[in-house]
Amino acid sequence: MSAILVVNAGSSSIKYQVIEVGSERRLASGLVERIGEPLGRLIHRGESGSISVETEQAIGDHLEGFALLAQAFAEAGRSLESLGIAAVGHRVVQGGSEFVEPTVIDDRVAARILGLAELAPLHNPGNHQAIAAARTAFPGIPHVAVFDTAFHRTLPPAARTYALDPAVAAEHGVRRYGFHGISHEVVSRRAAAFLGRPVHQLKQVVLHLGNGASVCAVDRGRSVATSMGLTPLEGLVMGTRSGDIDAGALLHLMRAGYDENRLDRLLNTRSGLLGLAGSNDMRDVRAAADRGDAAAVLALDVYVQRIRHYLGGYLALLGGADAIVFTAGVGENSAPLRAEVCADLEWFGIRIDAARNAVASGEARAISADDSRVSVLVVPTDEEAEIARQTWVLVSG
Ligand code: AMP
Repeated sequence: MSAILVVNAGSSSIKYQVIEVGSERRLASGLVERIGEPLGRLIHRGESGSISVETEQAIGDHLEGFALLAQAFAEAGRSLESLGIAAVGHRVVQGGSEFVEPTVIDDRVAARILGLAELAPLHNPGNHQAIAAARTAFPGIPHVAVFDTAFHRTLPPAARTYALDPAVAAEHGVRRYGFHGISHEVVSRRAAAFLGRPVHQLKQVVLHLGNGASVCAVDRGRSVATSMGLTPLEGLVMGTRSGDIDAGALLHLMRAGYDENRLDRLLNTRSGLLGLAGSNDMRDVRAAADRGDAAAVLALDVYVQRIRHYLGGYLALLGGADAIVFTAGVGENSAPLRAEVCADLEWFGIRIDAARNAVASGEARAISADDSRVSVLVVPTDEEAEIARQTWVLVSG
């Protein structure tokens, strides 16, 4: 039996899972974090999900991180060799216009991923560092890059074009790329499977609501509109990101003395739910709102209004939908949020069933009422399984 090592790495962390091909069983998972800091940490979990190895020590760089990870597998009694790792699948945030399919990584591809750092300065450099280290740590097996932008390769010109001078846009690569593509793809396919219908017959609006959040209009399996743009900053209100904001507000702040780094920190790390309500965790914000905290109530109102704004817009773009699909941390777990998003949409043929919506479950499920013309679903996302699937398709084909 073969398995894929799935790696989702940033500049100071490596998240990993081993997924068996075919069954999609999770054979192991873990996290190496605080790479480059005085005290790093590794947590390794076996197939049951319980922690089997935990260590704290200095982890100088990604290469040391992968060595420690390999050691953890051996210590846990299932070495990487014994698991039959056929390939490593790397999540890469930004593929630009160049990478629109999963791609086997050679030196040229690795260099191009680093070259795209200009478009994704917060993500691609960390992805590239991890890829270089993993290729050294695990030579002799293919390494595959799976891009978060690739599912949005089908965005039509009207959806991917900003109304800017085309020469400026072309010179600097300024267009909508879209993100969370791995999630939107797996969730829209699993939603279709749940409904027992081919994905190429369905129109769906997928709401990925996690710490990062985006909406995607999926027309017969193809992304035709999505709320994130050139960067993962545009669109919905997120845990720490502002989402949509008048570009004129940035000019205004720059004239008031903000430079690019301060703006970057403000918009990416100090805005969203955290900025408005003091926490980026929806559970905290909901609890505070329930206690009557005015800032938390406003944060939720802004959050919900933004989602409904996109939902209505995408229903118009698609000419109606067969399904609305909630996924990711907030979408899968917050029944009140789902109820607020779907309130008063009977005119659109959307009505949820309060009892079904209240059920907490880790399974795909319908929460719409029997007489709702549009199916409203909750479908857990599984980006790692999708990366493993796409990696296997490429290396076994
Ligand atoms: P993700 O990025 O998909 O892992 O989502 C993480 C976010 O999901 C957290 O920051 C929380 O805001 C949210 N979340 C997780 N569990 C719950 C829950 N039970 N109720 C509401 N929000 C939740």
